[in-house]
Amino acid sequence: MALDRFGRSISYLRISLTDHCNLRCVYCMPEDMSFQPNEALMQDDEILLFVRLFAQLGFHKFRLTGGEPTVRANLVELVRAITGTPGVRSLTMTTNGILLSRLAQPLAEAGMSRVNISLDTLDPQKFRRLTRWGKLEDVWEGIQAAEEAGLTPVKINAVVVQGYNESDVVDVARLTQDHPWQVRFIEMMPFAGATGLQTNQMVTTGTMQDIIINTFGDLELVNGGKLDGEARLYRLPDGKGELGFISSVTQPFCASCTRARLTADGRLRLCLLREGEVDLLTPLREGATIKELRQLVLDGIWEK
Ligand code: SAM
Ligand code: SF4
Repeated sequence: MALDRFGRSISYLRISLTDHCNLRCVYCMPEDMSFQPNEALMQDDEILLFVRLFAQLGFHKFRLTGGEPTVRANLVELVRAITGTPGVRSLTMTTNGILLSRLAQPLAEAGMSRVNISLDTLDPQKFRRLTRWGKLEDVWEGIQAAEEAGLTPVKINAVVVQGYNESDVVDVARLTQDHPWQVRFIEMMPFAGATGLQTNQMVTTGTMQDIIINTFGDLELVNGGKLDGEARLYRLPDGKGELGFISSVTQPFCASCTRARLTADGRLRLCLLREGEVDLLTPLREGATIKELRQLVLDGIWEK
């Protein structure tokens, strides 16, 4: 078991498969973003070695992310190998959904459990403005394909940005009236330096809830308010699905955080909002033994 010094048992690993992306969301990266060369990124056999290592340390929940994980070549084969690794109980993915319409079925067949799909607005023009390059229709088809393939329950991630989509929370929330989906509204994290957005463009959970309650009436608290991962869940009156709020900025959920991240270039990152990282890929390429790598991971997690 991998424990940190606060006694949290860390068992959830998010693996970034690539830093590349086929979109350029305004809150995530600049339009002229430059990416790392392929050889700097973990290769398939290196990812699989790390998955085995983390699974042996008691990690059982894995998530693929990015950048955009679906732009990685060989994704379906990689998923099959990860889900076949002893100790891996669930593999999920966070994706922008653009390429999901053709990948959902093969990914489900390869053992993927579910997907989170990012969708910040239902307005095609605003979607284009937020993602710079995206076509809303592609994401919508991706969501349908995920449902048909059984990658359920589908979770939708919506980041809300002042001046872009704050009034759209109503339409996005309405999706849960007719669909058994979980729509999760996310407070924008202040990566302002990298994106050019201002910190004051962050819309708080409180503001989003006020907008939603003004339209639909009071929300019903789900699970007595207990966090589901990082989200607190509610339901619209007569809603089939759930609304989640991820208040990373106004109500950080650090105390219950059991996750670690592996960056696309093989660094173990213990917190999204802290700089500290442990490079695992360089030692692996320089011939470190599994025992040495395991110790690097355990020491890193202790410092989480
Ligand atoms: N490309 C995939 C996607 O967009 O779903 C996966 C990677 S993306 C970095 C993972 C999640 O982080 C997405 O739901 C995205 O909306 C969210 N995200 C990106 N930048 C963010 C920011 N500044 N604050 C909060 N969430 C952010
Ligand atoms: Fe790409 Fe996801 Fe970032 Fe948007 S949020 S630019 S889709 S990595």
